[in-house]
Amino acid sequence: MKIIMLGAPGAGKGTQAKLIAERYQIPHVSTGDIFRANIKNGTELGREAKKYMDQGLLVPDELTVKILLDRVAQEDCRNGYVLDGFPRTIPQAQVLDEALAKLNEKIDHVIDVDVPDENIVRRMSGRRACPKCGATYHIEHIPPKKEGICDGCGSELVLRDDDREETVLNRLKVYHEQTQPLIDFYAKKGVLNTVDGTMDMQDVFKAVTDILG
Ligand code: ADP
Ligand code: ADP
Ligand code: ZN
Repeated sequence: MKIIMLGAPGAGKGTQAKLIAERYQIPHVSTGDIFRANIKNGTELGREAKKYMDQGLLVPDELTVKILLDRVAQEDCRNGYVLDGFPRTIPQAQVLDEALAKLNEKIDHVIDVDVPDENIVRRMSGRRACPKCGATYHIEHIPPKKEGICDGCGSELVLRDDDREETVLNRLKVYHEQTQPLIDFYAKKGVLNTVDGTMDMQDVFKAVTDILG
C-alpha cells in the first residue's frame, strides 16, 4: 500500500504516519526527517537544505525529488510506504507519478489531515521532538511520561529551529501557495480522502484506518 499524507505544517501528518507505519508494517518516509538527519550529520545535502528550512521555505524540487526517489527505491519500500511531507509542490507530485507509472505502480490513498490555521501556531509552539529517534510530542496534547525526556530513548527533547513563531507563519504561507493545490490535484485523480485533524490523535487514527481498511 502506498500512501501520501497531506496537510499544513503541524497538522499531525507525522504523528499519523508513524501510527500507520506501525499498523500496516510499511516504512514511514519523511523528507523533513531525511533533511534533518543530513543536517545533524553535517553532509553537503544537509548544509544546502538548512538554508531553506531555516527560512521556512521549501528545499528546491530538484534536490528533494532525487532524495525521495532514492529512498523509495530501497528494498524495504517494495511493499509500500507512507509519505509524510512529500510531495509539497505540483511538480514533485508529477515526478512521483511518472516514476511510479514506469514501474506500473500508483499511489493508493492520499489523506489530507485538515486543521485550520488558527490551531496550527499553537500546535507547533508546543511541539517537542527527539533529536535522536525522531519521536514527536506536544507539551499539552501528547506529553512524554517525563517532562522534556523522550519516552522511547531517554534523550532530551528540543523545539525544532523552524518551529519558532515567525518561521511558522512563513511555512503556513508557503503551504497555502505551493502545497494546498495538491488537494485538488489528487481529488481529480479520485484518490483523495480528508480527515478532521482537530480531533484527538486516536480519533484521527480511527478515521484514517476506516479509509485504509
Ligand atoms: P512539517 O511536517 O512540520 O511541515 P517537515 O519536517 O515535513 O515539517 O519539513 C520541514 C522543512 O523541510 C520544510 O519546511 C521544508 O523546508 C523542508 N521540506 C520537507 N519536505 C519537503 C519537500 N517535499 N519539498 C521541499 N521542502 C521540503
Ligand atoms: P506534521 O508532521 O504535520 O508537521 P506533527 O505530527 O509533528 O505534524 O504534529 C504537530 C504537533 O501537534 C506535535 O507536537 C504533535 O505531538 C501534535 N499533535 C499531533 N496530532 C495531534 C492531535 N490530533 N491533537 C493534538 N495535537 C496533536
Ligand atoms: Zn527518542
